[in-house]
Amino acid sequence: MSYIVLARKYRPRSFAELVGQAHVVQALSNALTQQRLHHAYLFTGTRGVGKTTVSRILAKSLNCVGADGLGGITATPCGVCSACRDIDAGRHVDYVELDAASNRGVDEISQLLDQAVYKPVVGRFKVYMIDEVHMLSTTAFNAMLKTLEEPPEYLKFVLATTDPQKVPVTVLSRCLQFNLRPMATETVFEHLQTVLNAESVPFEDPALRLLARGARGSMRDALSLTDQAIAYAGGHLGEAAVRQMLGAVDRGHGVRIVEALAASDGVALVRTVDELRAQGLSAAGTLEELADLAQQMAVLQAVPQAIDPTHPDAAVLQGLAPLLPADETQLLYSIALHGRAELALAPDEYSGLVMVLLRMLAFRPAGGAAASAVRPAAAAPIVAAAPVPAPAVAASRELLRTSGAVSKTTVPSVAQAPSAPPVRPEPPRASPTPMAAPVAAPMAAPTAISVSEPAPPLRPAAAPAAAAETPPWDDEPPWVREESESSDGARPTARNESQPPSPEVVDAPQAADIPAPHPAQARWLATVQQLLAQTKVTGLVRELAWQAECTGIDDAADPVCWQLRVERESLRQASHRERLQAAMSELLGQPQRLEIDVGAVTDSAARRDVAARSQAQAQAERVIRNDPVVQQLLARYPSARIVPGSVRPR
Ligand SMILES: [Zn+2]
Repeated sequence: MSYIVLARKYRPRSFAELVGQAHVVQALSNALTQQRLHHAYLFTGTRGVGKTTVSRILAKSLNCVGADGLGGITATPCGVCSACRDIDAGRHVDYVELDAASNRGVDEISQLLDQAVYKPVVGRFKVYMIDEVHMLSTTAFNAMLKTLEEPPEYLKFVLATTDPQKVPVTVLSRCLQFNLRPMATETVFEHLQTVLNAESVPFEDPALRLLARGARGSMRDALSLTDQAIAYAGGHLGEAAVRQMLGAVDRGHGVRIVEALAASDGVALVRTVDELRAQGLSAAGTLEELADLAQQMAVLQAVPQAIDPTHPDAAVLQGLAPLLPADETQLLYSIALHGRAELALAPDEYSGLVMVLLRMLAFRPAGGAAASAVRPAAAAPIVAAAPVPAPAVAASRELLRTSGAVSKTTVPSVAQAPSAPPVRPEPPRASPTPMAAPVAAPMAAPTAISVSEPAPPLRPAAAPAAAAETPPWDDEPPWVREESESSDGARPTARNESQPPSPEVVDAPQAADIPAPHPAQARWLATVQQLLAQTKVTGLVRELAWQAECTGIDDAADPVCWQLRVERESLRQASHRERLQAAMSELLGQPQRLEIDVGAVTDSAARRDVAARSQAQAQAERVIRNDPVVQQLLARYPSARIVPGSVRPR
C-alpha cells in the first residue's frame, strides 16, 4: 500500500477529532442537533487550520445515514456509511469542492450554479464548498449572489477564505461566519505526540516542540514538517536532527545572547554571531528565538508560577528571567521583532543580526553619559547624585579610586549611544503574587536600608565622619579629594596592601579600568565640575566638557594650553571649542586655549559618573542582599526573590 502523508492520514473525520477549534465545533454541533441550519457558511482562518476539514465533516453530518442506513442529520457522522466514506474519499457526487484560486471566472461559477437546480443524486443535501473564495472575480461573485441569498432547500454553501477582507460585503452578509483560529503551539505539540505514538515513531519532546513552533499555528504544516523530519532523521525524531532540518537556532545560542546582554558583554555577542554564521544558522531564526525567550522571560517575571515545571526549558528560563529587569525584557522583545523585519534591508543577514544585537546593548536603559547630560543634578558630586548610606559612599569612593568599578564593555556602549533613552524607565513593579510580595515591599521601602547593617567600610573611622560633617571642600569632585588626601598620606596601593583584602573589593563585579587621574586630568575634571556646577556651559559644549579626557596641560604656554581628546568627531567643532575656551577663561580668570583631538577616551567626567553610579548600585544591592530582614524573608518564603532592578541607591 502506498504511503499516505500524515496530514491526509490524520485529517480529522469527526468534530470530536478536530483539535483547537472548540468554538466552531460547538456552534456547528448545536446547529446540527437542533436542525437549525443556515444555508451558507463562511470559514476564515490561515492555511492549515481546518477550513476544508470542517467543511467535509459538515457535509458528512448533513448526508450521513448511519451504519444501519436509517440515520438522519447528526453532529456525529458515523464514518462507515457510503455517504461518509465517499465524502472522505472526495468522490461524493453531491459534495463539490471548487478551488476558486484556479477557477476564478464567471464561467466556472455559472456551470456550478447551473447544477444547483437539480436535486441531490444520492444524499439529502448538495454541498458546494468554494475554497479561497476571495479569489473569485467580481462578475463571478455577482453571478453567485442570487443563489447564495435564496438557495433551494437542499443546497448548502460552504465558503472558505484566508483573506476575508477581500470578500465583498454583499457575500459576507449572506453567510454565517466562523473564524478558525491559528493553533496554539501546545495544541500542535500534543497532537503531534498523538500522531507519532499512533505511527510508532520514536521521538523526543523538544524535537516536537520545534516542529510545532515551526508550523506557526498551522496543523497541516506541522504534519508536513513531521513527515519531512521522519524522512530526514531516518525514523527517529531527535532534537538535533530536527534542529538541523529546520535550521533552527540552538536554544543555547539564544541563552548565551541574553546572558551577554545582561552582562553588557559586546565581545560575547559578536562571538556568538560568528558561531551562528559558522554553523550556517539563520539570523531571522536567532531573532525569533530571542523574541520567544524574551516573551517567556517576561511571563516568568510577571507570574513566576506560570511556567510548567515539566517544560523542557523551565530550568533555563528560571535562570534567565532574573538576569534582566522587566522593562529591559520588553525592550529586548521589541527590538528582536523589529530587527527581524529589517534583516532583509541589511547588506547581509549576519551584519543585520550584529546591528540588532548591538542595538539591544546600546539601548539598555542604564544611567549612562547620555542620561546624565540632560540632568544637571547628575553633574554634582556623588554625595548629591547618589546618596547611599555614608559607609557605602566611602567604600564606593575607595573603590572608584582603586578599582575603577566599571567593566570595559559597559562604558563604550553607553558612551556611544547618545540617543539612548535619557531617563531610566520606572523599575518593574513587584510581582503581584502573594508569595513574592512580602519581600518585594520592604525591599522597595527606604526603611529597609535604614535597618540594614551595612557592609564593613574600608576606613571605618574616617569615612562616616567625612560624609556626615559635609566639609567645605565638598563641592570638589570626589576623585580630586581622594587625590589630595592620598598625596598627604601613604599611596593608595601601599595602604591597601597593608590591610587584609576586603570582601568589598574581592567580590566587586566590575573590572578595574579607570585608574586614579594623572595630575593634568585631575585638574581638568575639577574644572569640568566647576563649569557644570556654575552652569557656564550648555548643550553640546557641556557634552564636550563632559566627554573629554585631558591628555596634558602646557602651563608654560601663553595662554595656558589644554590638550583634550574626545571620541566623537561631532564634538570637536570649532564653535564648541571656542565657547568652552571662553567659559574656562572666565572661570579661571585668565585666557585659556584648547586643543582637541579625536581618539579613544579612557577617563572622562562622564565615565567617572557612570562608574560611580554602577558602584553605588552594586553597593545598594549588596546592602539589601545582606540585610538580615531580607534574608529572613527569603529563607521563609521559598519562591520569594529580590526583583531585579528594583533596588536603587538613595
Ligand atoms: Zn455516515
